[in-house]
Amino acid sequence: MQFDLPGLQQLMLTLGEKGYRARQLAEWLYLRGAESFAGMDTLPRGLRSSLEERFVFSQPRVLHKRTARDGTVGYLLELSGGVKTEAVAIPSRKRLTVCFSTQAGCALGCVFCATGALGLSRSLLPGEMLSQLAVVAADFADVRVSNVVAMGQGEPFANYDATLSALRMMNSPELFGIGARHITVSTAGLVRPIRRFASEPEQFTLAVSLHSAEQRVRDLLMPGLSSQSLDRLREALLFYMEKTARRPSLEYALIRGVNDSQQALASLLAFCRVPAPGFHVNLLTLNASGITLGLEREAMSGGAEETPSEAQGAEGRRKPLSTPSAGSSPPLSAALPTLQKAGPAAFKRFENGLTAAGVGVSRRVSKGASIAAACGQLACRSVELQEL
Ligand code: SF4
Repeated sequence: MQFDLPGLQQLMLTLGEKGYRARQLAEWLYLRGAESFAGMDTLPRGLRSSLEERFVFSQPRVLHKRTARDGTVGYLLELSGGVKTEAVAIPSRKRLTVCFSTQAGCALGCVFCATGALGLSRSLLPGEMLSQLAVVAADFADVRVSNVVAMGQGEPFANYDATLSALRMMNSPELFGIGARHITVSTAGLVRPIRRFASEPEQFTLAVSLHSAEQRVRDLLMPGLSSQSLDRLREALLFYMEKTARRPSLEYALIRGVNDSQQALASLLAFCRVPAPGFHVNLLTLNASGITLGLEREAMSGGAEETPSEAQGAEGRRKPLSTPSAGSSPPLSAALPTLQKAGPAAFKRFENGLTAAGVGVSRRVSKGASIAAACGQLACRSVELQEL
């Protein structure tokens, strides 16, 4: 059984119960980690029986848990139907951040991302997203979850309604009570949903995976988005800033010889030339290692403008990465067979260039890399994990 708060309220009305029972049930499901309807002893016995008769009780099963040297904890979770996904807990002195998944796998196929190689199994329900927080909260009993980021498996905006529903329950003072500004959605850059997100009343934070401000390079790195031009993405972000007066962050993983040149920096600076509040650029270290670029000639040859979910179907699987076609431009991969993280000099150059142009910039320290739980590494490594 997976419901958001309005759905539970509707259910309670259907069962002839008062609306406030919905919140009690949500607490049991998402905060208190109930293991059965029978154990929910704040609910009337009759209601518990009705729930038992109507629903199969289902909570995610932790198949494996791994703790990194830096304290980051990665969870491999099995959801109903045997689908697997992952969540990551990132504790720090003052905060406990949960990186949660919005899908099992991902259809977008970014070449630097292990999840992208999985393809998409299915999108998650709101309750399945909340359950990931509940798993972490149970594990860190003395620390409250203070921040969440939809940056685990999947593209949150390809599962927009369910993701927003989950964010609202995370934000709800009656459930997790996490401040809206501490709730971040990280999108690969789906244009129409960014515009829709701009109109949501909550002050959720937006992060966009840019990784290159050069169309050809971005298409190579993020082939699932090759139908969406950087111009359209920039327009959508300008609309978002105008409407919300909030500053989105741009995620940029510096990759040696791919997006770390002086010309790449100049393109990034041009992309960032926008009115206040402007962008904040997070420079990331590439976590994936030894990923070989496919021959992305299709991606580099352009195409009609359409959203990936329209083009591929939200439940679709990505296209194979190597489909050479005659007459297109030569692949970057010919010169750059393997993705490697950029060196310190490139980080310095980008930091200095962005700062000089008045663009906010941070260098993000990647947590959890030693357990393959850092950005770009989530890939349900069930084959190498032992069941508990
Ligand atoms: S980076 Fe995000 S959008 Fe791209 S394949 Fe990975 S999970 Fe999907």
